[in-house]
Amino acid sequence: MHEQQGASVRELMAENAALRRQLASLIDQAESNHAIMMRHQAFDLDIVGAGSFQELVATIFRQLPIVSSLDIVTLSLVDAGSDIFTVMHKLGVDFDALPNLQFHEHPEALGFELAPGRTSRPKLLPYHPVSHASAFPLPPAGLASVALVPLLRNRRLIGSLNLGSRDPSRFTPLLGTDFVEHMGSIIAICLENVISNEMLKYIGLTDALTGVYNRRYMDRRLVEEIARARRQSYRVSCMYIDVDHFKQVNDRYGHQAGDDVLREVASRIKAELRMSDALGRFGGEEFVGLLIDADLESASMVAQRIRASVADQAFLLAEGEALPVTVSIGVATLDDFGREHAVETMAQALVAQADEALYEAKQQGRNRVVSA
Ligand code: GH3
Ligand code: MG
Ligand code: MG
Repeated sequence: MHEQQGASVRELMAENAALRRQLASLIDQAESNHAIMMRHQAFDLDIVGAGSFQELVATIFRQLPIVSSLDIVTLSLVDAGSDIFTVMHKLGVDFDALPNLQFHEHPEALGFELAPGRTSRPKLLPYHPVSHASAFPLPPAGLASVALVPLLRNRRLIGSLNLGSRDPSRFTPLLGTDFVEHMGSIIAICLENVISNEMLKYIGLTDALTGVYNRRYMDRRLVEEIARARRQSYRVSCMYIDVDHFKQVNDRYGHQAGDDVLREVASRIKAELRMSDALGRFGGEEFVGLLIDADLESASMVAQRIRASVADQAFLLAEGEALPVTVSIGVATLDDFGREHAVETMAQALVAQADEALYEAKQQGRNRVVSA
């Protein structure tokens, strides 16, 4: 009798201890889930608050592996015609710092089922070096399982978020996809947002006809560059370029031909400038070039090259006619960084000097370069 009672007490105590252990482990689990949730909420806030494309993508690559304990995170974006890439590049995004970002011309390249009326679903599966080569161009050693999460906006596939783990059981086809889908939808919204903001920013800074910067941008850039040149004491030069007798082009060949000539002039000027230089259309048939770290002599040489590249080869009009075009250029350099002047005043004075030199070039007969 006593023995029996003793046995059932021991059983109860053992059961009790087991229950306590279970409870403790549940509490641990709940705490750890809570911590993960808090980390994810902080991550969501960070990416929603990202102010630029570069900041958003860099935040995803930096934080998501930590927040979600992943061994690699990559991003594939659908970019028909390379529009996104081109604009981000022009806005100064440093793609070398984002090796895990890929662009694809066609959505089919992402490998999701794109049947009409059906939405793509995340794919959780073992890592396969060949079939996952485009999602993971630089896979970490030991990569074992991956999640390829479609990024959708209005049922349109805009990209894929690719998560990888060394743990083979981390992503398997039987696991639920709610969590990664939620993450994918937030990232898709954020991406679409920053991309359209950057596109708007870009449109606001460029000239629709020629694709070079507009006057508003150049005015700001001039001030920035002069301030920097003053701090680091290097020369900044400016050239004012005006197409000769351009009114006659419009009058004889029509406005459309005039527009084509302006585009071609812009592209010939650009071809002679360095990456660090800036070119803007200041109105009508006038362009302003800003040359960084160039004195009057080297700026004049660049201007001569531009003049020659326009004059030496006639412009082929749409009707097949060859039209000779020339430009006159005024060049000026800022070498007196008088501290007493505001940077804005110096910027205006530099452009005005180049404009005066241009006037002189016109007076002297056009198709020439005059240095202030
Ligand atoms: P100059 O050698 O003295 O510079 O003579 P010009 O004829 O080039 O000078 P002017 O400034 O009188 O003419 C500029 C012309 O540029 C007038 C205008 O019809 C034309 N123009 C201005 N903006 C545009 C444009 O966006 N497209 C086209 N096709 N023409 C434009
Ligand atoms: Mg003019
Ligand atoms: Mg002109």
